[in-house]
Amino acid sequence: MAIDDQIRAAEQLARQLEPPAAQRELWWQQVGGHAEAFLQSLSEVPAFRSPQGAPRSFALELEEQGSDLAPLLQRLAAEVDAPGINPASGGHMGYIPGGGIYPSALADYLADITNRFAGVHFASPGAAAMEQSLGRWLAELAGLPAGSGGDLTSGGSLANLGAVVTAREASQLGARQVPDCCIYLTAQVHHCVNRALHVAGLGEARLRIIPMDQCYRMEGAALEKQLQADAAAGLKPFMLVASAGTTDTGAIDPLPALAELAERYGLWFHVDAAYGGFFRLCEDGSQLLAGMERADSVVMDPHKGLFLPYGSGALLVRDLGQLAAAHRYDAAYMQDALPADRPLDPADLSTELSRPFRGLRLWLPLRLFGLAPFRAALEEKRLLARYFYEQLSQLPGWELGPRPELSVVTYRYVPAQGDADAFNQRLMQAIHADGRVFVTSTQLDGRFTLRLALLHFRTHKAQVDLLLECLKTFVEELENE
Ligand SMILES: *Cc1c(COP(=O)(O)O)cnc(C)c1O
Repeated sequence: MAIDDQIRAAEQLARQLEPPAAQRELWWQQVGGHAEAFLQSLSEVPAFRSPQGAPRSFALELEEQGSDLAPLLQRLAAEVDAPGINPASGGHMGYIPGGGIYPSALADYLADITNRFAGVHFASPGAAAMEQSLGRWLAELAGLPAGSGGDLTSGGSLANLGAVVTAREASQLGARQVPDCCIYLTAQVHHCVNRALHVAGLGEARLRIIPMDQCYRMEGAALEKQLQADAAAGLKPFMLVASAGTTDTGAIDPLPALAELAERYGLWFHVDAAYGGFFRLCEDGSQLLAGMERADSVVMDPHKGLFLPYGSGALLVRDLGQLAAAHRYDAAYMQDALPADRPLDPADLSTELSRPFRGLRLWLPLRLFGLAPFRAALEEKRLLARYFYEQLSQLPGWELGPRPELSVVTYRYVPAQGDADAFNQRLMQAIHADGRVFVTSTQLDGRFTLRLALLHFRTHKAQVDLLLECLKTFVEELENE
C-alpha cells in the first residue's frame, strides 16, 4: 500500500478518538444521569459494604472494537461503586473522610476538556497565575507572611515529602551529615512523614520520639530536654515536625511553645496540618491553631478540610524561594518556555512537571459557594464532635478520650466483665457489618479504641445520631450475648 493510502486508513480509525458533537452530547447525558442517580441514592445506600467476597481482579475486557457506554457504567456501579467504603456518603466518619463537592467535578471536567497545563506561565499564564494565587491564599490562611506561597500537590503525603526535601536543602544537609542530624516528632505523627524522611534520604537520621501529654500532644519540656542533650552531644538538631490535628486523635501540638524552641535551636519548623489546617477558617480558628504562622512549612489537604475530591493537597512554605531552590531544574528542550531570567513557575516548586490543572477544582467551588458555607461546615463538624462526646459521656460504660478541639473523638466501651479490647473489636465488627455508618478504630496506649472522625460535608446531626443509636444497640446485643 502506498503511504498515502496507509495514512488514510490509519486516520480513519484514529479519528474515532474525536467523537462527533451528537455522540458527545449522548455520553454527557449518560454520565450525568449516572452521576445524578449515584448522588440521589446516597441517603439510601450504606456507607460501607464489606469488601470480603468482592473479586480481587477486574476483567478489563480490552478489545479492538469499542463498546457502548451504558454497560460500562453498569459495571462501574456494580463492581466499583458498590463494594467497600462509600467515600461520598455522609455516613463516612472513619479515618479522615474526604469530600467530593460537586463543582470540583465540573472544574475537573473543564480542566480535562481544555487539557490545560498549569506548570509554566508560557503554556497557560491564566492557569499558572491562578495556581500561584491559590498558593498565596492558602499560605495566608496558614498565617504565613508575604514572600510565602505554595504548591498544589496530589495530597498530604506528597506535600510532606516536599517539605522534608525543602528543609533538607535549606539546611544544606549533606548525605554525610545525616547520621548526626536529629528530627523531632511524636509517635502520633502521620506515617507519611516517616515515609517522606526515608524517601528523602534521611532514613539514617536520628528520630527523636518526644513524649506526649495525656491529650497526645508533644510535651514542650521533654522536647527542650532532648534538644539540650543533642546539642551537648555535638549532634545537629535539624527539623521539628508538629501536627496540627493528628490523624488518630485530632490533637494539636502546642505550636507556640514548639515554634519558640525551633527558633532557639535553629530547627526547621514543619507543621503537618493536612487534617486540621482548614479549621483556621472557623471563627476562633487562628486562635485554636495559633503558632502555625511561625512555621517554615505547613501542609494542608483541601481534599479533607475543603471537602474536595481526592487528589488535592498543598505544601505552603514561608520563603517560597526555598521551595524553588529545592526543586527548580531546567532542560534544554524547555528553553522557549523557561527563559533564564523568568519569574517562578508552578513547575519550579515541585517534583512534578506534567500534572492536572489542580487549581480549578479549588477555585471554582470557592467562588461559586463563597467562603461562608465552608466555614459553617467546618464549625458544624466541631460542634457535632462535641455533641457526640457529650452524648456518649452521659451513657454508662463509655470511656472517652480527650475532649475534642477539632472533630476527632476517641472512645471505647468497658464491658461489665470480660476483655475490653475483644469487646470493642466485636463492636467494631458489628458496626462494619451493619454498614449504615462507617467508623474506624486504632490502638491508643495499647488499647483497642474506636474513633469518630467528622469531616465529610454530607455528615450532619442525623448521621451522628445514627451512630449513637448503633453504638447503643450493638453494645446491648453484645452485653447480652
Ligand atoms: C491525611 C493525612 C496525611 C496524608 O495525606 P494524604 O492526602 O492522604 O496523602 C498526612 N498528615 C495528616 C495529619 C493527615 O491527616
